[in-house]
Amino acid sequence: MISSLNTSPVFSMACRQFERAADLLNLPTDLRERLKYPKRAMSVSLPVRMDNGDVRLFEGYRVQHHLTMGPTKGGLRFHPDVCLGEVAALAMWMSWKCALVGLPYGGAKGGIRFDPAAHSQAEVERISRRFMQEMIPFVGPNVDVMAPDVGSNPQVMAWMMDTYSNHAGHSVPAIVTGKPVEIGGSLGRLEATGRGVAYLVKRYLEGAGYKMGQVSVAIQGYGNVGSQAALGLSGYGAKIIAISDVSGAYYDPSGIDVHEALRYGHLHKTLDGWNGAEKITNEELLELECTVLIPAALERVITSENASRIKCKFLAEAANGPTSNEADRILEDRGDVEVIPDVLCNSGGVIVSYFEWVQDIQSFFWEHDEILHKLFSILDKARYEVECQKETLGVSRRMAALTLGISKVARAKELRGLFP
Ligand code: NAD
Repeated sequence: MISSLNTSPVFSMACRQFERAADLLNLPTDLRERLKYPKRAMSVSLPVRMDNGDVRLFEGYRVQHHLTMGPTKGGLRFHPDVCLGEVAALAMWMSWKCALVGLPYGGAKGGIRFDPAAHSQAEVERISRRFMQEMIPFVGPNVDVMAPDVGSNPQVMAWMMDTYSNHAGHSVPAIVTGKPVEIGGSLGRLEATGRGVAYLVKRYLEGAGYKMGQVSVAIQGYGNVGSQAALGLSGYGAKIIAISDVSGAYYDPSGIDVHEALRYGHLHKTLDGWNGAEKITNEELLELECTVLIPAALERVITSENASRIKCKFLAEAANGPTSNEADRILEDRGDVEVIPDVLCNSGGVIVSYFEWVQDIQSFFWEHDEILHKLFSILDKARYEVECQKETLGVSRRMAALTLGISKVARAKELRGLFP
């Protein structure tokens, strides 16, 4: 397993970030190995009947990074390029994120290698249920808890919960988070990641002396996270000048009607054909002059090739791993772009997933205001701790966030010792 992960460019990227942080923390070699490689990595074959009667085999993955601090927690991605290395990298980042914001979880991630847009709803349901069926021996509310990620959504989580509950013989809402509210989901979870991104961006902007009315924002990816970040930031008074999805990017320097774009996107399942703004490319969007650039789609879109050309003042990493190691170095050398790293920036999603899990276990549900208040206070604390660590160690904000997260997991491993 370890040798196959080492050939993955995304896993190598996560490892290089980890090694830099581990050097700063002076971690011994044996502890580094235990921290870096996942505890469990599973690959499953999913035979599924298509609407036309044919049977097709799909490939699915689940990686549980560490089990030291509680169950593992992480999203499930539906994408044609998903692979074990990418999922292992995303699981590792989840571990550092959960530790950074103080959640009792290890990181996990899963994926099924297919494009949900190319399948009927009934086929997506059968693929999802078959995946959960294969995962039943390895997951559970106290073992590993899934949530939506790219390509999956609350409906998928409802099918996952139903499949697991049928096996258990009773409803087990805490098996997944990001479910619809009607079956044990949490108020605020749908918008939590994007709202968290918007809140942190506002706090950083205000700290730097910006008035929200002067702020322009470009967002790559207008799915759950990108669109909710856009709604949150425009609600705070910022102007959203560009949005995008897989069909391309849409630019209007005088400001995009984010509600209208969302309505169009929901209706057509894509922004393709939307005439509310000038069409540009996703690559052009990344290089627009703006106050805040928010990558909210996939990994490694800011690279050694374009890092010197991005013109934002703040890079808010709503996506996981959007900045390659080489681009990170270029941005550090430039020193004129404030990076809000993924493990901090998009942590609102897993924080409210944690609230959902707690509410499900207690069968006691909280009000929306209470959830947002608790979310923002955890984000404020994490942001404060990251800024203190940045000052103390004299490192980038990414290294500050990673060293905080990694050191908590390292300490937990030392305290528990090695069994047997
Ligand atoms: P989503 O599927 O709802 O949206 C993804 C968006 O990215 C879509 O608009 C899609 O068209 C676009 N996209 C896909 N490929 C693209 C490409 N090559 N170029 C440009 N756009 C492309 O997914 P999401 O849940 O919004 O997740 C987005 C990112 O946020 C991912 O990196 C995910 O890991 C991260 N994230 C999500 C959550 C969550 O709660 N959903 C939490 C933390 C982090």
